[in-house]
Amino acid sequence: MRSFVEEFKIQAVRLTRDLRHRHLIQTALRKYETVRDRTRASFQDWQAARQAAAETKWEGINHLEKYLVEFVSKLEARGTKVHWASTGEQAREIIFGIIREKNARSIIKSKAMTSEEIHLNDALEEAGFQVVESDLGEFIVQLRKEAPYHIVFPAMHLSRGDISQLFTKELGSAPTDNPEELTMIARRVLRNKYITADIGLTGANFAIAETGMISITENEGNARLTAALPKTVISLLGIEKILPRLDDLALFLPMLATSGTGQPLTCYNSLYGGPRQPGETDGPEEWHVVLLDNRRTELLADPEQRDALHCIRCGACLNVCPIFRNVGGHTYGTTYSGPIGSVITPHLRGLQDWKHLSYASSLCGACTETCPVKINLHHHLLQNRRNASRQRPSAIERFGFKVYSCIVNRPEWYAFVRSAARLLQKLHPLVKGKRFDPAYGWTRTRDLPPIARETFKEYWYKRKGNA
Ligand code: SF4
Repeated sequence: MRSFVEEFKIQAVRLTRDLRHRHLIQTALRKYETVRDRTRASFQDWQAARQAAAETKWEGINHLEKYLVEFVSKLEARGTKVHWASTGEQAREIIFGIIREKNARSIIKSKAMTSEEIHLNDALEEAGFQVVESDLGEFIVQLRKEAPYHIVFPAMHLSRGDISQLFTKELGSAPTDNPEELTMIARRVLRNKYITADIGLTGANFAIAETGMISITENEGNARLTAALPKTVISLLGIEKILPRLDDLALFLPMLATSGTGQPLTCYNSLYGGPRQPGETDGPEEWHVVLLDNRRTELLADPEQRDALHCIRCGACLNVCPIFRNVGGHTYGTTYSGPIGSVITPHLRGLQDWKHLSYASSLCGACTETCPVKINLHHHLLQNRRNASRQRPSAIERFGFKVYSCIVNRPEWYAFVRSAARLLQKLHPLVKGKRFDPAYGWTRTRDLPPIARETFKEYWYKRKGNA
């Protein structure tokens, strides 16, 4: 079996050469950038808004224990059953327990990256339950038996033609490349699922401590139906979703929409406070909230990188990342891809197995610059690299740096190596591309610039002498 890093390299090479794939992604992202820039410009001061959002998230995460207690006590006061899950396995067991207690067979789901993180769909299907994704993009990738490609646009790697072919094959519909007709085909299938589902399963965008409410923002209305029609609803959310106050949504909802899809505000913004209350005519009879840790508290204990928990999953850092734009979302092999995925996956799934993602970056800093909550993403990638090499230092690298230090600390050795390198470099074209060339791996995809004919020092003295 291939290691994660081998798999990443193979997929990255394959997809960077796939011009159709690159065209699809880059066309979609160009459109996104145009609308995002227009909407950002409508903020009075985008940078001040970013600063305010960063400070609010800092407050929520740095006082997480206080705000989580407040959030839970308010939810419980209205009859919601709150469960704490330390690991993905525990979260799955809790959800299975609720489903079995209700004798449920069918589950309708709205978008929840946390459920991808704990591989919930696979586990439910293996156990014989019927689970249907109600978000259109998620529904499409579920039919393809694929993971979401992007945290906001799960099916952005597919054209209308691909989706039409898929629907014809899986749903028996007539071929069409009209987006409205394609949406209507999915809608007809999904409407029936909402009505017959025993359980509704949602994620959450924000958890409001002050009022004990879950905020869900979406464009299709599917999360509303998922939370309104079944008798039992389960919401699975990471503990980092906390926002201290209801008023904070006035900033976070437009920021998430602007950074996520380029909209001023998404079409549907709902707040849920628990099950149907006495005197209310609709809503679920039972509501469960599962709060997932899954190593988030370990990240919280890391003073350098705890701000990675500020992430609101807008996907903006993926959209501007030159690596993501070329290798695509599936190449990462993780739930969270792009810069934020490369930062947090080594924390969530093990540094040594996933350290290669921190090298899948040009360190251009575009991710940090675009992040609406000002997470220092490219710095965190460097910290991951440093931590990985500290944890398991490479003997070859240590030897190499020792030799390098010996040479650069002795000017006469340095001059000798420089002259020798100038001579040897002439041989490079002869051996380039051959397996016995030690530089083969490096120069296969990069240029080896010629060593300068004279050093700056030599040039300077010559210039001074001529003056
Ligand atoms: S790290 Fe920032 S830009 Fe990336 S998904 Fe999270 S909030 Fe959005």
